[in-house]
Amino acid sequence: MTSFQSLGLPDSLLRSVQTQGWTAPTAIQTAAIPLVAKGFDVAAEAQTGSGKTGAFVLPILSTVPEDLAAPHRPQTLVLAPTRELALQVASVFKSLSLHLPVVPRVLAVIGGESIDDQRAVLKDGVEVVVATPGRLIDLVERGAIELDDVRVLVLDEADKLLDLGFADELSDVIGELPSERQTLLFSATLPPKVLGLAERVLHEPVLVRIDDQITPVEGIAQRVFQVDRNQRRGLLQHLVSTEEWGQTLVFVATQRATENLAAKLRRAGHSAAALHGGLEQPERVWVLKQFRSGSTSMLIATDIAARGIDVPRLAAVVNFDLPRSPRDYVHRIGRTGRAGESGLAVSFVDHDSEAHFRLIEKRAGIRLERQSVSGFELTGEAPAKEKGVGGVKGKRKSKKDKLREKAAREAAGES
Ligand code: AMP
Repeated sequence: MTSFQSLGLPDSLLRSVQTQGWTAPTAIQTAAIPLVAKGFDVAAEAQTGSGKTGAFVLPILSTVPEDLAAPHRPQTLVLAPTRELALQVASVFKSLSLHLPVVPRVLAVIGGESIDDQRAVLKDGVEVVVATPGRLIDLVERGAIELDDVRVLVLDEADKLLDLGFADELSDVIGELPSERQTLLFSATLPPKVLGLAERVLHEPVLVRIDDQITPVEGIAQRVFQVDRNQRRGLLQHLVSTEEWGQTLVFVATQRATENLAAKLRRAGHSAAALHGGLEQPERVWVLKQFRSGSTSMLIATDIAARGIDVPRLAAVVNFDLPRSPRDYVHRIGRTGRAGESGLAVSFVDHDSEAHFRLIEKRAGIRLERQSVSGFELTGEAPAKEKGVGGVKGKRKSKKDKLREKAAREAAGES
């Protein structure tokens, strides 16, 4: 097995890694760290939970000591799709640089927090900026941040950056950077649009795909319960209590549903909180802090708000509402069983959402046994149209399949 020592990291970083309790590098770290340290542009397919943050933070920090004599302008810029991810990556930079002889100053540049405070910190000097695109552009336009000294650019969760419509913002930011730089791109999957971005922005990149990495799906027990829509909360409470799940993250489709469900669970005696994009930033940070510390045991979230959440010992993830895509499914359940720990992922399906879930299974290459719990069994008849759903015959989805998919999504209240 590869060790962190053999990856050529300096002693100070080996100490940081030890402080984190990381005994050996993950597959993506083993593959990416030497390439990044050598200065290559890298496009890596790495899912959340694979240790991807360490895969770029460690080699970037390994070059800090020599370069940090004088400069005060950002040398490393990480772009992340959400505020939560930006905060998390910034905190990984901070915790891994603790033992460095010269500790770089790190700033998360995100919306929802005081822009004047960020300007003041930038004025004092910052070497690492982890930003969401919108606020970064705001600061650039106000002349509050100079990006001329950036020599490493990281596009983290590049697929999500594109999905969230940040393509133009990315171009604007990249236009501000020196063309002589190292660029790293990390993405859960590398579909053509992400590879297209890599082609435009990276210079002769090395492509890293880890075939044998423990994908989140493999280390996680996945269960599917058939339950009526209006019985889902009852079943959730039943499972959480009887199976003593511990820290549980529950995904629902809308912001309002996060609030509703959290309120009902609280009334039933659970400590539950809602997390969604409509909350003010300080509130989001507080909710996450409470959940991380264990003061709250259930977090009810939408996909976007939950992106980037890293909670140690997250016991269970629940798809109260199904995710839209197989990729989101893998992403959601990757929140449990992180970095090799085992975890539990539970999905609720009913007659209306069954077709959609089958599609998720098909694309994710899984087939799960349907379960039910006494007292919460699914009632009613499966609709006849369900037969043959999923376009099993041909590889391409037919128009009919697409319409059925759409109907299934709408029925599940997800569009
Ligand atoms: P990431 O994929 O970067 O979000 O990391 C997922 C989780 O794995 C985080 O909780 C990290 O602290 C943890 N982690 C990262 N690298 C290692 C490692 N080499 N050994 C154990 N845990 C790790």
